[in-house]
Amino acid sequence: MISDKVRVRFAPSPTGYLHVGGLRTALYNYLYAKKNNGVFVLRIEDTDQNRKVEGAVENLIKTLNWAGLRYDEGPVTGGEHGPYVQSERLDIYKEHADRLVKEGKAYYCFCSKERLELLRKEQEEKKLQPVYDKHCLKLSKQEIQEKINDGFPYVIRLNIRPNENVVVKDIIRGIVEFSTSTVDDQVLLKSDGFPTYHLANVIDDHYMKITHVIRGEEWLPSTPKHVLLYNYFGWEVPSFAHLPLLLNPDRSKLSKRQGDVAVESYAEKGYLKEALVNFVALLGWNAGDDREFYYLNELVDAFSLERVNKAGAVFDIQKLDWLNAEHLRKLDDATLAGMLKEELAAGELKDLIPGDETLLKIVSCMRERISFIKEIPVNAPYLFRKPDSYEEKGLQKGWKAETPAHLNEILPKYEALENPVKDDYERVLRETAESLGIGAGKLIHPLRLAVSGVSGGPGLFDIFDVIGQKEVVERIKTAVEKIRI
Ligand code: GLU
Repeated sequence: MISDKVRVRFAPSPTGYLHVGGLRTALYNYLYAKKNNGVFVLRIEDTDQNRKVEGAVENLIKTLNWAGLRYDEGPVTGGEHGPYVQSERLDIYKEHADRLVKEGKAYYCFCSKERLELLRKEQEEKKLQPVYDKHCLKLSKQEIQEKINDGFPYVIRLNIRPNENVVVKDIIRGIVEFSTSTVDDQVLLKSDGFPTYHLANVIDDHYMKITHVIRGEEWLPSTPKHVLLYNYFGWEVPSFAHLPLLLNPDRSKLSKRQGDVAVESYAEKGYLKEALVNFVALLGWNAGDDREFYYLNELVDAFSLERVNKAGAVFDIQKLDWLNAEHLRKLDDATLAGMLKEELAAGELKDLIPGDETLLKIVSCMRERISFIKEIPVNAPYLFRKPDSYEEKGLQKGWKAETPAHLNEILPKYEALENPVKDDYERVLRETAESLGIGAGKLIHPLRLAVSGVSGGPGLFDIFDVIGQKEVVERIKTAVEKIRI
């Protein structure tokens, strides 16, 4: 047995940002670990020196933490099976590649780029599978030693025996069989001394005692190579679960070209982590019913690998927006007010941030009308500052010749109120309407235009309550002076 505990890992290459597909892989690993009282490992696969990006690891950890996916072992945190960064494990890979060479399961290859290129072209012309032709396998021990002594660059390749069957047991896909004749003599160690993904991945999964390899479908074709490596080393093969591809609505592979794929950019756009995590969880999994709203801890309870689909999962941004609104509405006013404050501080209204009590009033009257916090200042700027114009259509409908006289009637009454609360504004309005012998609407519509400049939005008395008595009076006076129809 690899381990008596479930041990899973998320093994990203640090490319600078976390892809939403990566977030899903991390999430499923996390959920599986938590559900089974297991261990969630973060391993950084940074053996491709050309793709290295400064600060990428820090950014990755920050993003995982933001999403609430805390790993149990990994860089910074540490653990018994470290180091958890592959570039710090080069000796282990080299030693194991040498071991395979000694046992005849791998071999040195000195072929030049030019020869490999030529070979590939020939095979292409003959419509053959482009695989290495084992040319260097024929070299004698002495020839090999001479070449090494002469400083010839070399790689180490896996020696795959053709015409064998490799069986991959996948929790999601069932049994997948591959013929070794279609598997290339994979390079294990590159000429720069760094391992390839395949070698490092298998060695690390073994020594980190990974029981379940949960990763994207794009790695399925590599899995026979990995199974062969486990066999060659005499190691137990972990269980595999390959997650379905993420697709654009047109069913092409989710790509940068059709929209954002970086988790960070969703965070920047104001999506809640709860919503993004919930959304990503549903990309290829459901609990067997039509429930869609989940918190992370609820996902832990509901999740199972058996219920992950094989078919590609469509990334439907409208669903994400909907989930964002749902999650937003579940947050309490104080949390929303804090978010609004932050949002305002970063925007053009930064000098007009109201006090905490007013912020609470704002979120309370706007919460059902928004999917994103940032919509508050955009949709209702009048909650923060005077309107600078009045909506033409609204005026045509709601501002009549007698309106100024009506408003002049209510103005002194509003001015006379002492520390009014919401109900006071309403009471005065109804009394005034009655004494004028008109419907309340005849006052409500023009008043709304006067204080907000527009004809839609939260309740009129909520607006009054937010902007306060002084502002209510001033805005009505200004409107009466300015509006001419
Ligand atoms: N480093 C690979 C990646 O970037 C990991 C694949 C795996 O999980 O085996 O996705």
